[in-house]
Amino acid sequence: AKQGDGNQTAFYDARAATIAREYIQLHTALLQALNKNEFSLFYQPQTNAQGQVIGAEALIRWINPEKGLISPLHFIPAAERSGLILAIGEWVLQTACMTLRSWQETTATRGLSLSVNVSTRQFYQEDFIDRVTKALQLSGANPRLLKLELTESLLADDLNRVVDTMKALTNLNVRLSLDDFGTGYSSLQYLQRLPLHQIKVDQSFIKDMLNSHSKNEAIVRTVLSLGEAFGFEVMAEGVETLDQLKFLQQLGYRQFQGYYFCRPIPKDQFLDYCKQYNYN
Ligand code: C2E
Ligand code: CA
Ligand code: CA
Ligand code: CA
Repeated sequence: AKQGDGNQTAFYDARAATIAREYIQLHTALLQALNKNEFSLFYQPQTNAQGQVIGAEALIRWINPEKGLISPLHFIPAAERSGLILAIGEWVLQTACMTLRSWQETTATRGLSLSVNVSTRQFYQEDFIDRVTKALQLSGANPRLLKLELTESLLADDLNRVVDTMKALTNLNVRLSLDDFGTGYSSLQYLQRLPLHQIKVDQSFIKDMLNSHSKNEAIVRTVLSLGEAFGFEVMAEGVETLDQLKFLQQLGYRQFQGYYFCRPIPKDQFLDYCKQYNYN
């Protein structure tokens, strides 16, 4: 037994060392990617009940010369652990604000809102408000068209501080959205205290909503009436099929995002998409 324990310890040590090495490699690679400008923002259209584009969500991509396009699912969690998410998040915020400004100056995109994902660590920075203020000033973007997407993990910590920061953000006229709603620390108690503009019902609930054994239909229904009772806009994300869209519309949903409409696409393609689908 002793021998076995020793082997096992050695095995775990080796595994921990491998994980640590991979982690440092990824950190170094991400830092280089940032310096070499290998990150890019894609934009996924958001539509209203009439199928018109009302805005977009900015979603980061890492386009590496050797490895090609890398999904945020493969590097955002590591960036969050290493703290590099602060530098990446800053780049995202500034780039998104510049895009928003350019949309304001183009007929096909004028008035569209842009949703930007903000990680919890980013939100908790002492000078987060200053950073948002600066990104808006430098770009000249209209704050009312900028939506910051926050997740419920934010609320696990210090609710008073979170509410203060959120209020300071809304004083800048920025809109706030609670992303992935229903997957985290949802509590009706805190919802009442948050100066939110929108909640996004998590795509996992949309996914098997039409499956006859699923309870997700009830969740999707309930989240809408809950959100409306609080005066929030409610967006359904992860809409993949016409059946899902029809059903959500029947329930009373009026904001949609998902592959059924369009995948996240580069800025140029997004402009073409708007020219094609908006009549203005
Ligand atoms: P999220 O914020 O929940 O973003 C929605 C994700 O769902 C995106 O994945 C989007 O491409 C995907 N999606 C959209 N419509 C559909 C659909 O109909 N079906 C399915 N199956 N998926 C759909 P993506 O772009 O891979 O991003 C994954 C996650 O990475 C995001 O989830 C967000 O948590 C994070 N992320 C992406 N960009 C950023 C960023 O700039 N900053 C931060 N902090 N996180 C980001
Ligand atoms: Ca999001
Ligand atoms: Ca989401
Ligand atoms: Ca998510």
